[in-house]
Amino acid sequence: MKELSGKKLAAEIKAALIKEVKKLKAQTGAAPHLIVLQYGEDAASKAYAGRIEKNCEAIGIEFEYQQFIDQPEKFKARLKEANEDDQITSIMVQQPLPAELKDSLEMINPQKDIEGITSASLGKLFVGLETLNPATAEACMEILDYYDIPIKGQRAVVVGRSNIVGKPVSILLQQKHATVTMCHSRTRDLEWELKNADIVVAAVGRAEMIKGEMLNKDSIVIDVGTNFIEGKLLGDVDYDSAAEKVKAITPVPGGVGTVTNQVLMRNIVKSFKNLHKIK
Ligand code: NAP
Repeated sequence: MKELSGKKLAAEIKAALIKEVKKLKAQTGAAPHLIVLQYGEDAASKAYAGRIEKNCEAIGIEFEYQQFIDQPEKFKARLKEANEDDQITSIMVQQPLPAELKDSLEMINPQKDIEGITSASLGKLFVGLETLNPATAEACMEILDYYDIPIKGQRAVVVGRSNIVGKPVSILLQQKHATVTMCHSRTRDLEWELKNADIVVAAVGRAEMIKGEMLNKDSIVIDVGTNFIEGKLLGDVDYDSAAEKVKAITPVPGGVGTVTNQVLMRNIVKSFKNLHKIK
């Protein structure tokens, strides 16, 4: 079994971004600038914003964080301002959002939509146009590419159909000519699908749900899951039993999430370049 660690790949993306941002600053006199808007007091979202801030600092990206509590109109007004402010080149709206603010995701200027969550960004991905792709989906593809894993003609099974992970990764796999099967909570025989897969992408959100005995010995497993159980971070795949069985698997932590962090940074740099019309 080969462990598909994301650490070296993430470090390489980060090192390239540090250099690129330096160059862009010299060229334009400006820096990529991210604003993270949070509504409410979700502690996990706040902690995530803190990790993004550290990453931004390390790369030379300006970071701004604003939290709104019980002021939906002010939240929307700030989002509108950020959309129009030329200095702010990237926007992230933290989730979860209350029902009255769900539509604010669609308000994000698609050119600044570094999470690739607006229908404009996802629509471009769907038709194969250049856009900012959801970072986690792209991180899965980066890992496959980094380890030279063949995709063309392979049977890929994606477990999970969320707009932010399952669906976009299925499109990216199809673009690379995989034959993709989407599985979800109503899939009749998940084990059969998994047993027939060359590549498995698990994006379910259920700790260690996929066991080694459900997989086939030649499969490559990309575990997107991040489940905090009693202070421990676990994937959607039971690493120990899967590692005994399959050809290769990403670890959790140190796999997809690690790469996702840097792909998100790369999206921030991309949005800056797009707005400044730099190739
Ligand atoms: P989500 O929106 O909750 O979607 C979960 C998907 O799993 C749904 O499509 C659901 O099916 C499916 N599902 C649930 N139970 C199932 C079962 N028993 N069998 C088969 N499918 C089942 O989750 P998400 O946002 O895509 O996130 C998935 C996981 O990835 C979570 O652990 C999340 O924390 C993690 N994540 C990691 C990163 C990273 O960078 N590493 C980034 C984002 C998310 P239905 O559609 O039928 O309900």
